[in-house]
Amino acid sequence: MAKWVYLFKEGNASLRNLLGGKGANLAEMTNLGLPIPQGFTVSTEACTDYYNAGKRITEEVQGQIFDAISELEEIQGKKFGDTEDPLLVSVRSGSRASMPGMMDTILNLGLNDISVEGFAKKTGNPRFAYDSYRRFIQMFSDVVMEMSKTFFESILDKEKEEKGAKYDTDLTADDLKDVIAKYKVIYKEKMGEEFPQDPKTQLMEAVKAVFRSWDNPRAIVYRRMNDIPGDWGTAVNVQAMVFGNMGETSGTGVAFTRNPSTGENGIYGEYLINAQGEDVVAGIRTPQPITKLQEDMPECYEEFMAIAKRLEDHYRDMQDMEFTIQEGKLYFLQTRSGKRTAPAAIQIACDLVDEGMITPEEVISRIDAKSLDQLLHPTFKADALKAGKVIGSALPASPGAAAGKVYFTADEAKAAHEAGARVVLVRLETSPEDIEGMHAAEGILTVRGGMTSHAAVVARGMGTACVSGCGEIKIDEEAKYFELDGNTIKEGDYISLDGSTGNIYLGDIATEESKISGNFGRIMGWADQFRTLKVRTNADTPADTANAVKLGAEGVGLCRTEHMFFDADRIPKIRKMILSDTSEAREAALNELIPFQKADFKAMYEVLEGKPMTVRYLDPPLHEFVPTEEDDIVALAKDMGLTVEAVKAKCDELHEFNPMMGHRGCRLAVTYPEIAKMQTRAVMEAAIEVKAEKGFDIVPEIMIPLVGDKKELKFVKDIVIEVAEKVKAEKGSDIEYHIGTMIEIPRAALLADEIAEEAEFFSFGTNDLTQMTFGFSRDDAGKFLDAYYKSKIYESDPFARLDQNGVGKLVQMAAEKGRAKRPGIKLGICGEHGGDPSTVEFCHKIGLNYVSCSPFRVPIARLAAAQAALAAGAAK
Ligand code: PEP
Ligand code: MG
Repeated sequence: MAKWVYLFKEGNASLRNLLGGKGANLAEMTNLGLPIPQGFTVSTEACTDYYNAGKRITEEVQGQIFDAISELEEIQGKKFGDTEDPLLVSVRSGSRASMPGMMDTILNLGLNDISVEGFAKKTGNPRFAYDSYRRFIQMFSDVVMEMSKTFFESILDKEKEEKGAKYDTDLTADDLKDVIAKYKVIYKEKMGEEFPQDPKTQLMEAVKAVFRSWDNPRAIVYRRMNDIPGDWGTAVNVQAMVFGNMGETSGTGVAFTRNPSTGENGIYGEYLINAQGEDVVAGIRTPQPITKLQEDMPECYEEFMAIAKRLEDHYRDMQDMEFTIQEGKLYFLQTRSGKRTAPAAIQIACDLVDEGMITPEEVISRIDAKSLDQLLHPTFKADALKAGKVIGSALPASPGAAAGKVYFTADEAKAAHEAGARVVLVRLETSPEDIEGMHAAEGILTVRGGMTSHAAVVARGMGTACVSGCGEIKIDEEAKYFELDGNTIKEGDYISLDGSTGNIYLGDIATEESKISGNFGRIMGWADQFRTLKVRTNADTPADTANAVKLGAEGVGLCRTEHMFFDADRIPKIRKMILSDTSEAREAALNELIPFQKADFKAMYEVLEGKPMTVRYLDPPLHEFVPTEEDDIVALAKDMGLTVEAVKAKCDELHEFNPMMGHRGCRLAVTYPEIAKMQTRAVMEAAIEVKAEKGFDIVPEIMIPLVGDKKELKFVKDIVIEVAEKVKAEKGSDIEYHIGTMIEIPRAALLADEIAEEAEFFSFGTNDLTQMTFGFSRDDAGKFLDAYYKSKIYESDPFARLDQNGVGKLVQMAAEKGRAKRPGIKLGICGEHGGDPSTVEFCHKIGLNYVSCSPFRVPIARLAAAQAALAAGAAK
């Protein structure tokens, strides 16, 4: 028979996967001989079994839970439901990774109409006993049966009013009995049955509620954002109650061994005398700082401090502890490695190394790579955030916190910014013409678009907070307002965005700038010692490149050359090129474009000081580049010497039903070879000139996008070679250069061996590869993916976290085929996945040479690459 339930004394810290973090730690503390109210843990496997059995707890699991209750009764010398001295328990969830969003604690379980009398007798405090029962009914109804709290709150408020009581504590035992009777009536009315009197029924309902909470919407969102697999399940901890609300020698509190927001070494926490855990959290009474306990109960304080130190030494990490003092006796209710801000995480990590507690390897493995975002972008001030009201949430497209006045067009955003306002740009979706408004904005919110949409990619590159794809928004850009969650937000109203969580808040929530301390450099230095995977950046401007190099980029893995024309003075020129009818007109338009491009290439080569740069040839999805605004069309008509109607007709002609699969990528160069010719001239001249001027060892890497066939690549490559050789001859240069391709069409992955005959390197474009493997439009998937998460078909956004099962197989296969045909072929990834830690680990495993990601994610990728190397036992 499988074992589903473990008494605390049967477990230990190594059983975390089975017992969850809380259960494993309670077991470990029991083994250490610490004062822990005893109990048992229903394992995570029992949770998985519950789901596999069609959301049912099997007889076998239930039998083991009841056996554990019997043993607990034995240990505590009390009985469940006893009329003299009943055993009462708390029930809490506890998964492998600490996971907010799951079920809250249930306290005082085991009380019923009869045991409450026993409890009153035993404690000699009827008021306390009936208050505990009242709280239990309320908590059970709310948390387990999902009844609204308001029913109970209004009964309690009414009772207080009738009795002239100001506080709950002014109600007498008889008043509370009255409240309980009313609670039970409303319970029966709403639930259609009596409040359960059998403690075993209460317990089983609570266990089921914990299991159910594993799959509640908040928990699913949290798992998706933190890469926690759905099949881990949660454990349930059942623990004998101790009471912090038994008078002036009782109390309860929470404390950290170091400050969780700054990392400062020293006890940090608070407690309340004569209170239960929920009172500390509810904030009705103001807790005392933990140091005050030294005055109130010096012996307890000393014991507490000694145990806290012991726990930190034992776990070799900052601990977050809950404790209760019952009539002068101290109990620890739980300990865990404390959650901390990113600045605190790096401070604590460095301190622990300096204190000789942990090694740099352990530091690297422990820090959550994604949390580094907090160090590089503004965050909300904690107090201000507490008061913030969430009015919606969507995709966390680009991290950081932003607050500002809403504007609906790029021009207005820019004007407001120039007038000194902080601005949030809200758009149905963004396009290149919004670039200046995006630059001016603190944050960007879009109604449409996924994690690789224009808004997401561009905002991430700039380091601007962005929440994308909020389909619940009803927007009227003309009338300048949007509606969300019953709120109407007009131009000039404040909203706040958290691009790391996807939350949208009403009002102006104060933010604070990130600060990078010397510790950051130390940790990055350690990461670089261990990693084998190189980290490049996706950058298209000299400024972004410089920023990325500062953050540790070892080259540019993707320069999207069409992005070099996003600026207001450049976009008309690329439009002119796109709208040209003849090759002469196109060449004339290109002649205007190329000087900009060459100048930027030169500036980027200079910033890179010899580090490699992969230049990806033009790949403009037409819907992003064809003008849509009347003003732009008029200006373009003027510039091209055409009528507005002619330009509109031309735009209509270019209209594509599916531009992402349309006339883009190398298809443009196949149709209009002059584009590839001009771009080759720009790259080669820039490289040769900077090499000569600065002495850097530059080897241009020219990358052809959207290739699906070897012949297609060869066609473009021949054009590139012809022009490159011509430029070399003109300049008398013997510069080397490489021509490679993106692998971003499934056919290219399938035929990667053939393509490797022509390609000197591959860069996996996992944005398009995901789009085309799933058949999900990059720009539209956000609309329906939520339904997939809810139905548990997919757990995460395949545009954010590489789908290793499907798309990853294509990547791995193509890498193997490429290497077989061309040993030593350089392999990298440049899709947005390159900055996602789980994808970085995958890239390490399949032996890619580098990942390339947006500038601000470079440190994350460096850390994730080191973690991957350490996990694989392959650190340098
Ligand atoms: C990709 O498709 O993964 C890629 C990097 O190219 P883009 O996002 O520009 O299509
Ligand atoms: Mg692509």
